[in-house]
Amino acid sequence: MEQIVSNIQKLAKDKHNENKKFFDKLKKKAPKNLDYVMQELHDSEFKRTDCLACANCCKTTGPLFTLADIERIAKHLRLKPQQFIERYLRIDEDNDYVLQSVPCTFLDSENYCMIYDVRPKACREFPHTDRKKFQQIASLTLKNVAICPAAYNIVEEMKKRIAL
Ligand code: SF4
Ligand code: SF4
Repeated sequence: MEQIVSNIQKLAKDKHNENKKFFDKLKKKAPKNLDYVMQELHDSEFKRTDCLACANCCKTTGPLFTLADIERIAKHLRLKPQQFIERYLRIDEDNDYVLQSVPCTFLDSENYCMIYDVRPKACREFPHTDRKKFQQIASLTLKNVAICPAAYNIVEEMKKRIAL
């Protein structure tokens, strides 16, 4: 896992044009069973993926925090939402609340999330490879394959499984 993680940006860069072409075609002509295929690819990849040996998402990028996330996590930490925002968050160029810095403050030294049960929705859903109508998040996925080895492998499998 460590070797793939350290190489993931280069691997994704090498595949970028091929992936972009694939997703452009997929957007025009998504197979009817795409949701089913994605669920299968996602489940089978995450069965063999050890996120605790990776944590690259938590180390290199962070989630965006919805207001519901902020309220839930602040309550868990016994802070007021505003105190939580001031201590940990900033507003980014898209006007979303994001972490002030990465690696994420809530990642411990063994790659466990210290707020796992109340973590942001975006963390729970990352890398979104079991999302319905997956073709609609092509641009996000092109970025995520450069962060997440599991997303990278899932897209490689998609290209083998889905003839366009
Ligand atoms: S909140 Fe938890 S899961 Fe989300 S980025 Fe931070 S450590 Fe990772
Ligand atoms: S979701 Fe992807 S990037 Fe995050 S820890 Fe798991 S394999 Fe690594």
